Amino acid sequence: MPYRFTFDLSKVPRFFFTELTLISYHKGMHKTFLKTAHDLIIKFRIQEATGLNLSDAVVLLQDLIDLQAVNIMERGKFLETKKRAFFLPHCSRKYMDNRCQASFNQDIPSYTCAHCSEDCLVNRADRLAKKKGYDVYLLPGGSCIPKILKNKHYEGIVGVACGEETKLMGQLLSGMNVAGQGIPLIKNGCANTIFNIDTLVKVL
Ligand code: SF4
Repeated sequence: MPYRFTFDLSKVPRFFFTELTLISYHKGMHKTFLKTAHDLIIKFRIQEATGLNLSDAVVLLQDLIDLQAVNIMERGKFLETKKRAFFLPHCSRKYMDNRCQASFNQDIPSYTCAHCSEDCLVNRADRLAKKKGYDVYLLPGGSCIPKILKNKHYEGIVGVACGEETKLMGQLLSGMNVAGQGIPLIKNGCANTIFNIDTLVKVL
């Protein structure tokens, strides 16, 4: 389920994400969350950078912090897993039209990147994950994931998605004994979405 708003945090300083991670470690932070969120939004000029109104910016921060908190909680369990999958959203491809050479397998259902463009974010992520032994899926939507998990019995998964989708994914995984790690999109939308490749390297 996508957000009803679009955002682009790709130009916000990396230190913003470091602060979010630090907040995620604080147990009981929900009591002071609103004040903390407002402070961060002002400090990093998030509204000016994204054009979001205050309440949408708060929702976005809350989801980013929640995602990071779940990553921290699940990290130990995830590191013990051997059979792993990596899920990428197709909207992070460099091209959304037939210039993208990825093939689509309806049965999985997933695209397979053909590595046609060196500067494509999906290309870089695909290569990194495969080198680490992951099965990589370039998905047309999150609704494909239950079918893949049912057929392949992965122990651990890493997924790139927006905060809304990672929440749904967390609910799905908790009933399947699969350890998950999420990589947030820092720019959402229907095309040219962005995630941070350094974050991915750390998580993989
Ligand atoms: S590198 Fe892969 S995902 Fe990117 S445009 Fe080419 S085939 Fe598509």
